[in-house]
Amino acid sequence: MEKNEILMIHGTNYKAMTKQILEAANLEALIGTKDKKIGLKPNLVVAKPASSGATTHPELLAGTIEYLQDHGFKNITVMEGSWVGENTDRAFDACGYGAVLRKYNVPFFDLKQDSYKEYDGAGMKLKVCDAPASLDFMINMPVLKGHCQTTITCALKNNKGVIPDSEKRRYHTMGLHKPIAHLNTIARNDFILVDNICGDLDFEEGGNPVVMNRILGFRDPVLCDAFVCEAMGYRSDDVDYVVLAEKLGVGSRDTKNAVITRINDSVMEDKPFPMTGRVKRLAAFAEPKDACSACYGSLIYALDRLSDKGMLHKGMKPISIGQGYKGEKGAVGIGSCTRCFEKSLAGCPPKAVDMAAFLEEEWVK
Ligand code: SF4
Repeated sequence: MEKNEILMIHGTNYKAMTKQILEAANLEALIGTKDKKIGLKPNLVVAKPASSGATTHPELLAGTIEYLQDHGFKNITVMEGSWVGENTDRAFDACGYGAVLRKYNVPFFDLKQDSYKEYDGAGMKLKVCDAPASLDFMINMPVLKGHCQTTITCALKNNKGVIPDSEKRRYHTMGLHKPIAHLNTIARNDFILVDNICGDLDFEEGGNPVVMNRILGFRDPVLCDAFVCEAMGYRSDDVDYVVLAEKLGVGSRDTKNAVITRINDSVMEDKPFPMTGRVKRLAAFAEPKDACSACYGSLIYALDRLSDKGMLHKGMKPISIGQGYKGEKGAVGIGSCTRCFEKSLAGCPPKAVDMAAFLEEEWVK
């Protein structure tokens, strides 16, 4: 897998999907010799199950460990430190990681208990815990979700889990963006496996999950976060730490020249999407008919961007989306399934950033 590639897989068998995406990336070759010390860094920010939209699904952990062990890698540790004020062990239990790690006999290391050293992160003095710093290969396993201060959070910000709590507090006093970008000049990002199953609409602690049933693979954390911006209806220019990380040479924001490999097509849900308050209110502006989760989820993010601009009002004609509209005529539709509509946005699925621009132009009156 090259640095400008993006791997994408859809479905609901998350463990099998994880193994498929790692096979497609040929992770074995990326890691190298079997004696390599490998770390898995999920997002256990708070003590909430993955269905809340805050934390990494345990199935991704199971699939990754199974892939690694099947390929002869034995030196594997799962490591994470929850946010300040949360106990990592509580988060570990809430996410059901204990059963997974017992099954595969893999240790967990709470990074709040780790020692640390100070490094020069492209001109900033930053502390990083010793266990992640000693690894040969780090698999960063963030959740694609919103964040009240940094707009989005994914690969780059997930590395905030590999620093001591005192440093996490200091980052907040520095406005987060700059230290996060600089941290990623020293923290490892050898492979990024993104949990895009049901990340939260706008809070890192979850509560409003947006179901998309998708897992993504990257080698470049900046490309990852730039793609995530667009998947949530933003441009990467909107998020300072993504722009700065590119300037510091961490990676590239060039999503236009990225090579996207879809391992399978988007999947249609056979049951209604579970929705909470804010997501439900946004969904009221859509009229789905057999919509794929990645398409429908992207539309929720696009509608949220329009809501941010005060463009959603009662009485607006709902937007059509889904495979049930194939061959039908209508006014405004999203995705190639609505190509016979008067106004339709091509793509299968289109990105939320393109949906937001299209709807602003063709639907908002
Ligand atoms: S355009 Fe149609 S088939 Fe493609 S993702 Fe959207 S709903 Fe699914």
